[in-house]
Amino acid sequence: MDADHVPSEITSVLLTESQIQERLAEIAAQVDTDYAGRDLLLVGVLKGATLVMADFVRHMKSHVHMDWMAVSSYGSGTQSSGVVRILKDLDTDIAGRHVLVVEDILDTGLTLSWLLKNLGSRGVASVEVFALLRKPEAVKVPVSPRYVGFDIPNVFVVGYGLDYNERYRNLREICVLDPWVYGG
Ligand code: 5GP
Repeated sequence: MDADHVPSEITSVLLTESQIQERLAEIAAQVDTDYAGRDLLLVGVLKGATLVMADFVRHMKSHVHMDWMAVSSYGSGTQSSGVVRILKDLDTDIAGRHVLVVEDILDTGLTLSWLLKNLGSRGVASVEVFALLRKPEAVKVPVSPRYVGFDIPNVFVVGYGLDYNERYRNLREICVLDPWVYGG
């Protein structure tokens, strides 16, 4: 689906498909270099990071392992609360592993800081973060991702894996959702 298919629901296209792919290729090359000679485990955060992960690993030139976690941050609508629950844990024992968490978006940082603490307590060799998007104005808890795709304004975005009520994940672009859709 393209933004053109849902014009009345979208305020603007923030990032096009080609902008996203170019940036993913750059970061994949950087990760290839940074982790050369080490086994890397990419941990995708469901469901938002599915499309990022799918494209990112195909830009990489080294072997990688993939695993997935699903967490729910209690909250309502478009706000996250920082109270996190694991819905699906990793299948992999990550003790001694180099882990790179792949996230769709870093908003307040509440979810990711909780996740990093959780993964860090499992005896990893290292744990770093790649967030495709970051909203610098929304940060409440400082999280320092090693890799960031794009810094974006503090607006609610959808597409490329990011949903509102499970819709819009299959949009090719990253778009600003028109606030009328969520009653804003
Ligand atoms: P945080 O805990 O950093 O505030 O939020 C993390 C999660 O909130 C993200 O993984 C994502 O699921 C959701 N989120 C935060 N901002 C947005 C946004 O602009 N659009 C969408 N669709 N989800 C968001």
